[in-house]
Amino acid sequence: MTAAYEYETHEYDVVVVGAGGAGLRATLGMAEQGLRTACVTKVFPTRSHTVAAQGGIAASLSNMGPDHWQWHMYDTVKGSDWLGDTDAMEYLAREAPKAVYELEHYGVPFSRTEEGKIYQRPFGGHTTEFGEGPAVQRTCAAADRTGHAILHTLYGQSLKNNAEFYIEYFAIDLIMSDDGQCQGVVCWKLDDGTMHVFNAKMVVLATGGYGRAYFSATSAHTCTGDGGGMVARAGLALQDMEFVQFHPTGIYGSGCLITEGARGEGGYLTNSEGERFMERYAPQYKDLAPRDYVSRSMTMEIREGRGVGAEGDHIHLNLSHLPAEALHERLPGISESAKIFAGVDVTKEPIPVLPTVHYNMGGIPTNYWGEVLNPTADNPTAVVPGLMAVGEAGCASVHGANRLGSNSLIDLVVFGRAAAIRAGKVVDADAPNPVLNQASVDKAFDRFDAVRNASGEIATAELRLEMQKTMQADAAVFRTAKTMAEGVEKMTAIAAKMDDIKVSDRSLIWNSDLMETLELTNLMPSALATIVGAEARKESRGAHAHEDFTERDDENWRVHTVSRVDGNEVELSYRPVIVDPLSTEDEGGISLQKIAPKARTF
Ligand SMILES: Cc1cc2nc3c(=O)[nH]c(=O)nc-3n(C[C@H](O)[C@H](O)[C@H](O)COP(=O)(O)OP(=O)(O)OC[C@H]3O[C@@H](n4cnc5c(N)ncnc54)[C@H](O)[C@@H]3O)c2cc1C
Repeated sequence: MTAAYEYETHEYDVVVVGAGGAGLRATLGMAEQGLRTACVTKVFPTRSHTVAAQGGIAASLSNMGPDHWQWHMYDTVKGSDWLGDTDAMEYLAREAPKAVYELEHYGVPFSRTEEGKIYQRPFGGHTTEFGEGPAVQRTCAAADRTGHAILHTLYGQSLKNNAEFYIEYFAIDLIMSDDGQCQGVVCWKLDDGTMHVFNAKMVVLATGGYGRAYFSATSAHTCTGDGGGMVARAGLALQDMEFVQFHPTGIYGSGCLITEGARGEGGYLTNSEGERFMERYAPQYKDLAPRDYVSRSMTMEIREGRGVGAEGDHIHLNLSHLPAEALHERLPGISESAKIFAGVDVTKEPIPVLPTVHYNMGGIPTNYWGEVLNPTADNPTAVVPGLMAVGEAGCASVHGANRLGSNSLIDLVVFGRAAAIRAGKVVDADAPNPVLNQASVDKAFDRFDAVRNASGEIATAELRLEMQKTMQADAAVFRTAKTMAEGVEKMTAIAAKMDDIKVSDRSLIWNSDLMETLELTNLMPSALATIVGAEARKESRGAHAHEDFTERDDENWRVHTVSRVDGNEVELSYRPVIVDPLSTEDEGGISLQKIAPKARTF
């Protein structure tokens, strides 16, 4: 029997789910072209996790010294440990300066150099001369509040262009036709309990990452992988989920982030002997080696008994040697965070830090236009009509096995913009909207109703904690065959307990119990795909450091993991990495020999 919910139907050309940097850049681009655009978001737009991005946004503007988009591309290829799709990485590096100047013209208040140019700082893994030269200053910043500045600007511009916002609406499920076209999305309005069906010619998922599948994460509590959950339930694929980035400098205890910009401005890490140990692990780039590298080095120091603190279980980040005015001008936010969350005065004492879950390289597979892929053996790049994914929810894939710092904010705006450019071509504003598949709408309401009335034995918070602790222990910085096999077994059992979940509040207005349970139904498939994909991958690459297979194995494993999750079962397959760039060397592109796989040292 179908659950009886009354609902209101809204028709648009495009519905964007999510109002972080990616969702807002897509919304703005769609609206600017005159497409009737709605943006649906579960939190107020400027409260999306993008607001917390501190360090900056990468683009080869050459404001602080020589730079080139080809160098940026090379660093991204190498940073990805050769798992990124080369066409998408070229598109990112090439379009980055354009996308940043657009932000500047929209009104983002970037920090400035003496001559009035956009200020840029060094960030890990960003170099010159194809990794042969010194570190480059490529990361454009608005002090240490870059995400905040971008989000406020894009929201204002979207309103100016008549995009319509549906704020505090929770997207439950996609509406799919029988032949696999996305037709819209079913939503629940959190503040008055009404239900809404959005009928659209194009749905763009921009729902962010799923950091909250782990116990300690720098991301907001709202980062619950809702887009990935919706996609999995529609029978579509997730990609490369085993690659989870640990940021080297989460504040010990709270997990609150200290931006890599702190090391970019001259901060460095020390162990219990006061040694700058990164000089041993990465002689050339030291504290500015990429994140996977630094996180592993820190973990090695702690394991070998050189951690700091009473338990010897963390590391120190030193900033006190930097001039007070530089800290005040360039890093005001983190000085404040260090005071609040660690009780530390950064001008006098080091900050206690620990590698903390920070970013999901994996997500919903797309091409570099943001179109969602449904890879099959015959056609690994088959497109799902009517569906796009951008930002951390998507996997284009430009970050491959490891993302470089400041490459996410640029990913949001480059691919948010690309999705809008593509939609301008494939969405016909004059055509009628699709006739909705009622069975798919009913299915979404039935699931919602079942969750709302769930009367099992386990409280949502309890099961969520079990999942988070298991992921933290078994899918961590270092992974062994044994921990991952145990992790798969535990997570399979934990996911099965979703059938025994208990929701105590049955109301429809501001029911956080119900919302968190719906979020858990999205976190769970993401967590499962992560651990199952990790267990299967018998090599070490980027953020996936396998202690029983310590080398990268390009012959067998330079492939994307494609996972389909059904209940507590995950089916894995693989699709080839796209190795060809968009342009040849003759056309001004990068030489193939430059980006051929080699050992990744710093
Ligand atoms: C503390 C921190 C600092 C960072 N600093 C940097 C940095 O300096 N440089 C850099 O490049 N990267 C940085 N990153 C990474 C980067 O900020 C994120 O990857 C990026 O902001 C994600 O943006 P997004 O638009 O994809 O998603 P988000 O900003 O997370 O937004 C997700 C949106 O989706 C909506 N949503 C989700 N689910 C639903 C649903 N079911 N229904 C309706 N709406 C929904 C939310 O309301 C929200 O609007 C940082 C990340 C963190 C956590």
